[in-house]
Amino acid sequence: MSAPPSDSRQSVSGLGEPGQRLAVCPGSFDPLTVGHVAIIARGLRLFDRVIVAVSVNIRKQPLFSFEERTTMIREAFDNDPRLQVEALSGLLATWARDRGAVAILRGLRAAADFEYELQMAQMNRHLHPEVDTVFLPSDPGVSYVSSSLVKEVAALGGDVRGLVPPNVHAALMGRLGTRTP
Ligand code: ADP
Repeated sequence: MSAPPSDSRQSVSGLGEPGQRLAVCPGSFDPLTVGHVAIIARGLRLFDRVIVAVSVNIRKQPLFSFEERTTMIREAFDNDPRLQVEALSGLLATWARDRGAVAILRGLRAAADFEYELQMAQMNRHLHPEVDTVFLPSDPGVSYVSSSLVKEVAALGGDVRGLVPPNVHAALMGRLGTRTP
């Protein structure tokens, strides 16, 4: 049997250069919650670098600007050099492929997330098979946490400490003009 070409592992696996495996973690992050933090932290254990892709939907009025969300994410991870935060524009699969990502990371909170996430993953794979989707099951203790619910509860004076990182909590209280008792 003839020897495989020297770059066979690279071309067959398509996993990217060892030491440079990059995953993209997309979402709105308006604002970052402990659920997001867990998914990003697990991504940093599985991959060499993670780019948090912050969607900037012009039809949605966010509570925090892209710049504010970026700062909060970077602060929550102590400016980890393996973590980048960028604005997501256009098609996610193409955006991820253009940055050399091998994976799109998505958290699954409940079975209800699965059907839509599966369809998206299959569409993204159809568009760019070199970028796979990796689903991470949510920690049961944070599966009920979402940015929208945190904002709603905080706006009505509910205590959201522990559901968002401390820097996000401070920003939320400042923005909503409320103080947790
Ligand atoms: P999207 O609007 O795309 O769901 P989000 O900002 O809400 O964006 O979430 C970004 C990513 O983080 C998604 O993959 C989402 O499933 C995941 N995520 C959000 N909250 C949690 C949580 N509590 N546990 C696990 N994953 C979560």
